[in-house]
Amino acid sequence: MPGKNDSITEAMQWVSKITTIGAMFALPPIIGMWLSEKLEIPCIGLLGLIIGFSSGLLGILSMCKTPEKNYKIKFSDGKPSSIVCGTCEMESYNPNDIKNKYCGNCHIFHEDKK
Ligand SMILES: [Zn+2]
Repeated sequence: MPGKNDSITEAMQWVSKITTIGAMFALPPIIGMWLSEKLEIPCIGLLGLIIGFSSGLLGILSMCKTPEKNYKIKFSDGKPSSIVCGTCEMESYNPNDIKNKYCGNCHIFHEDKK
């Protein structure tokens, strides 16, 4: 099922990323406030806020650092048949290019997310 499903998967990935970061921001303060109310220690709520803010920020930072993969591998019969470079849009049928995710036109190796 190539083609159409790609954009849906991409959208789903973004939704999960945003949800994850939202949870990173929101959950620690909520837990902290709940705990501070339960234990009657007011500073836990503040601590949760700080942890929530920094973990959310770190989440955004790590998201910005990982570049979206800039290539597309096309399959035929369940095997990779070609690689399309996201920068120059060139399609290569060279098995070595596919294997190494290499673009002969840009002379770069496309890397997976680290
Ligand atoms: Zn290229």
